[in-house]
Amino acid sequence: MTTPTTAPGKPTREVWFLTGSQHLYGPETLRHVADQSRDLSETLARSLAPTATVVWKPVLTDAAAIRSCLDDANRDPNCLGVIAWMHTFSPAKMWIGGLDLLRKPLLHLHTQVNQSLPWRTIDMDFMNLNQAAHGDREFGFVQTRLGITRKTVAGHVTDPRVIERVTCWVRAALAVATLRSLRVARFGDNMRDVAVTEGDKVEAELQFGVSVNTYGVNDLVARVDAVEERRIDALVEEYAEVYRLAPELAAGAERHDSLRCAARIEAGLRDFLVEGGFGAFTTNFEDLGGLRQLPGLAVQRLMAEGHGFGGEGDWKTAALLTALKAAGDGTGLGASFMEDYTYHFGPGEPKILGAHMLEVCPTIAEGRPSCEIHPLAIGNREDPVRLVFDARPGPAVVVGLIDLGDRFRLVANEIDVVEPDEPLTALPVAHAVWKPRPDLSTSTESWLTAGGPHHTVLTQALDTETLRDLAAMLRTELALIDDTTTTESFTDRLHWNAAYHRLGAGLPGAR
Ligand code: MN
Repeated sequence: MTTPTTAPGKPTREVWFLTGSQHLYGPETLRHVADQSRDLSETLARSLAPTATVVWKPVLTDAAAIRSCLDDANRDPNCLGVIAWMHTFSPAKMWIGGLDLLRKPLLHLHTQVNQSLPWRTIDMDFMNLNQAAHGDREFGFVQTRLGITRKTVAGHVTDPRVIERVTCWVRAALAVATLRSLRVARFGDNMRDVAVTEGDKVEAELQFGVSVNTYGVNDLVARVDAVEERRIDALVEEYAEVYRLAPELAAGAERHDSLRCAARIEAGLRDFLVEGGFGAFTTNFEDLGGLRQLPGLAVQRLMAEGHGFGGEGDWKTAALLTALKAAGDGTGLGASFMEDYTYHFGPGEPKILGAHMLEVCPTIAEGRPSCEIHPLAIGNREDPVRLVFDARPGPAVVVGLIDLGDRFRLVANEIDVVEPDEPLTALPVAHAVWKPRPDLSTSTESWLTAGGPHHTVLTQALDTETLRDLAAMLRTELALIDDTTTTESFTDRLHWNAAYHRLGAGLPGAR
């Protein structure tokens, strides 16, 4: 009944559709329940098809079947999460054992088959068959009683807002599934003396599932040195086709050797990551070993293929970038490693200029990037090759992840990427200019009060509802700065959050 929609080679992204009922109504009614639930699941499947495959499961009517189904969901690597709907009254004590086992994200879809009431013909048979209004209340109670984290979405499945809200949840579940199996390779440690890029890797593996380990940079250098010339030939040809190549880098020109060196680094880095099964990586310009250039172009192109990256050993941002890239997959919009760099306080509307030394992902580019070479004092190596571009204007979100010592906190800000006021013709790195919401002062006062980092993920593919869902699934605080934020209300919220997160497991939603 469902059609796989993911590209070949990618794991199937399934969400399971579970329907609750009971035996009280007899086999005839249960047949109607099953037919209607299958129809509803198919409607949902058509709407969610670009993002995930909906898998219908037989109607659940007793505790053993529920436990077995939710246990299967835990163990099936293709299952991103489960959607539950109580078609009729499903006495919820039968759900306790199963919900207690469930480790996958849960969405409670509060809906019914009929959009309208058949006012003139409605009778008690209709009433008995279509009673999610109280069946779902029973289910809501037991979830709250058990402290189960879930998203509740109410409305008819033909309502675009319902589909949008379910889609956000699916995207968040994709990020979670990605984190659960993510391996991060760090080449060297953190930049010396930097505080915000530090963090508890043991806690991160427990809470997010990501494993983070360090490798000597010269293990990478060995891979880079082993790359065959023919692979370098192919890469430099590709660069010339895909990018606007600076004339000095072209074949036969004076700096072509630097381009070949960048291609060699890219191929060696890709080999290292692919062979080790790493979905993210970090570098540190203080620890480049035998690398001739700070990896710029290589990092940019590997990010564009879906790898997470963090500069200066920033494994938290690297992991977050992989997860948010996975969540945005298929939208045609991008996400990048980003750093708040410098401000425009005026005249005109205040703005932030974000960039990095080199490593901004071309999936957020407006137009065709240019491939250039310029000096870089940092890193004490040869001039590195990099892609240079403006970011595409439009709404986006910047997200950072910090370790507060007793917990992780996500800090996010809704932003609008805009055209630079004037062309940034002298700036030799890729960059994004944005207006933070609600305004620069409120945004930055709030961001700094939350302890938000200078490294972030800038995503054009996701909205903050997806981030809220993700934070809930990861049991992680989200401090969100948006159109409605004031510095005062945001500061109050941080204080309340501190109490909430320290009280921990005893609170509803903390499970
Ligand atoms: Mn940095």
